[in-house]
Amino acid sequence: MIRPVLSVRDLKVEFVTRRGNLKAIDGISFDIARGEVLGVVGESGAGKSVTGSAVIGLIDPPGRLAGGEILLSGQRIDNLPPQEMRRIRGKRIGMIFQDPLTSLNPLYRIGEQLVETIRTHTSLTASGARKRAIDLLAEVGIPAPERRVDSYPHEFSGGMRQRVVIALALCAEPELIIADEPTTALDVSVQAQIISLLKRLGREHGTAIMLVTHDMGVIAETADRVAVMYAGRIVEIGPVQEVVQHPLHPYARGLMGAIPSLQSDTNRLEQIPGAMPRLSAIPSGCSFTPRCSFAFDRCRVERPEAIARDIHPVACHLYDQAPAKAEVVA
Ligand code: SF4
Repeated sequence: MIRPVLSVRDLKVEFVTRRGNLKAIDGISFDIARGEVLGVVGESGAGKSVTGSAVIGLIDPPGRLAGGEILLSGQRIDNLPPQEMRRIRGKRIGMIFQDPLTSLNPLYRIGEQLVETIRTHTSLTASGARKRAIDLLAEVGIPAPERRVDSYPHEFSGGMRQRVVIALALCAEPELIIADEPTTALDVSVQAQIISLLKRLGREHGTAIMLVTHDMGVIAETADRVAVMYAGRIVEIGPVQEVVQHPLHPYARGLMGAIPSLQSDTNRLEQIPGAMPRLSAIPSGCSFTPRCSFAFDRCRVERPEAIARDIHPVACHLYDQAPAKAEVVA
C-alpha cells in the first residue's frame, strides 16, 4: 500500500480550564494521499481548525494535544521539539489562511518575502531564488510577474494576494498544504478561481492538501474526499461524490442542504435546527442528539462509533440497527 502523506491516528486535543479539561478533538483518524485534497467541513466550533492547528503543531494555549499520533510521510511529528517543528512548517508543510495578510509582511515587497522563504528552504542563490519567485508568481496566475515581484502586498487585490500566499506556500515544494478557509474572505467570483488554482497545483506538484472550510460548496468543487466534523469528532468520511450525493449522517444531510445548486433536492434538509454544543456542554451519547430528528433512546446513552456501512464510514446508530431502522434514511 502507498504510504499516505498525512496520517492522523486517534487524535485528541483538550482545553485546560478551571472547570476541567474540555475535549475539542475527541479521537479522530484520517489519511491524506499524495496529490489528494481532503476537505474537512463542519460548522464553527466543530474542531476543524483545531485539527489543522494540531497538524502544524500550533495549538494555542490553553489547548494541548491529549493523545494520538500525527505522521508526515511516515515520520511521527506530534512529539517533535518546537524548533524541529518550526523547520517542518514552511519546508514540508505549507499553510494558507483566510486572511492573506496573516502570511505576508506589509513592509516588504512580495519578491523579498518569496526569495527569503525559497533561500531558507533550498540551496538556490539569490538570483536563482528570484527567478524561482517569478516562476511561482506566473504559475499562480499573477500577470506580469517580472514587474509585480517588486510590489508590496497592499498593491494587490484580495484574490491576487491569496495567489501570492499560495506561491509562498509552494516555495519549498511542501508535501502537505493546510488551507484554512482560504476563500472565505474573497468575492464569490474570485473564490472559484482560487479553488481551481489550489486543486490544479495540488495535482501538478503531488501535494496533499487538507482544506478546512465551513462551506460545503467549496468542498464539492475542490475535494477528492470529505471528512464531516461535529463536536470534535468525524461523523462521516468518504469520497466527495458519495458524501455530497448520498450523505448518510443526519448532520451531513443537513450540510448538503447548504449547497445552493442542490437546493432543489427536496429529500435534503434546508437547514439544521439548533446550534453546535459548547465544549462544556457536549451531550452524552451522540452529541448530535438534540438537533437530530431521527434520534431514538440509544442515541442519548451510547456514543456511536464510525462503522463502514454501505458505501463509506459513518458514526450514527441508524446504520448499526436492524434493516427496518436503517431504511429511515436510506
Ligand atoms: Fe441522530 Fe442518533 Fe444518528 Fe446521532 S446516532 S445522528 S442522534 S440518529
